[in-house]
Amino acid sequence: MNEHPSRLSTPDLRDECLDGAQCLFDAELHDGPDPEDRFEHPDARAAREDVAKDICATCPVQVACLEYAIRTKPTSGIWAGLTAKDVAQLHALRVERARLGDAYEEVA
Ligand code: SF4
Repeated sequence: MNEHPSRLSTPDLRDECLDGAQCLFDAELHDGPDPEDRFEHPDARAAREDVAKDICATCPVQVACLEYAIRTKPTSGIWAGLTAKDVAQLHALRVERARLGDAYEEVA
């Protein structure tokens, strides 16, 4: 599953511990318009994403959302206040840290 929290069904939100997600009432704010339907100017996109990040900052499930994002590897949207690129970088750091941890245990 790689659905933004704003587009998940209630049972899926509960499964992912995302009950209380603050993005449910305007999915387009966090996930952007469907590019097939509408072009979004880069300035408009940046402004929209800033508002989405502000909402994430007050969201009670932000930590669970970040874990969900790292696991599902989004390609777009704002997740837990981060862009998909930010999430990918966190995922890569986590993988590298695990690899270094394994290497350390092998020599210890
Ligand atoms: S942190 Fe942001 S993207 Fe995640 S559930 Fe909350 S409002 Fe939605």
